[in-house]
Amino acid sequence: MASDGALPALELGEKSVVISGAGLAGSLLACYLRQKGLKVHVLERRSDPRHEAVYAGRSINLALSERGINALRDVGILEDILKITIPMYGRAVHLPGS
Ligand SMILES: Cc1cc2nc3c(=O)[nH]c(=O)nc-3n(C[C@H](O)[C@H](O)[C@H](O)COP(=O)(O)OP(=O)(O)OC[C@H]3O[C@@H](n4cnc5c(N)ncnc54)[C@H](O)[C@@H]3O)c2cc1C
Repeated sequence: MASDGALPALELGEKSVVISGAGLAGSLLACYLRQKGLKVHVLERRSDPRHEAVYAGRSINLALSERGINALRDVGILEDILKITIPMYGRAVHLPGS
């Protein structure tokens, strides 16, 4: 990665990239590399949580912060993501026993 944080110019063509892990980093990287014209394969060892109860049926809520918003805007999917978010006006940490 360049010192300004930008991805280096990639030589395009028939190259493909395999990313291990479809977490936040892998998924975002996949979006960036796809936009660079590369063929991207994302491998994830866990099942798709949209189709299987990966965490014993519990839902996972993810708070979206400004840097996440900026990243989603950067790859052009912010508007779609905002449609499935709800505002969060504060957070509370629960201490043991409280
Ligand atoms: C309890 C908890 C709550 C959190 N809440 C928030 C929140 O509200 N908002 C927020 O922004 N951040 C939150 N975070 C932090 C956030 O989850 C991490 O910063 C983020 O997930 C890191 O992204 P990552 O892609 O580096 O790793 P991960 O999200 O962990 O992704 C790595 C992926 O790689 C997969 N993987 C690992 N090994 C292999 C392999 N060999 N082959 C294939 N796949 C593999 C894993 O299954 C995983 O899906 C929370 C973290 C925790 C633990």
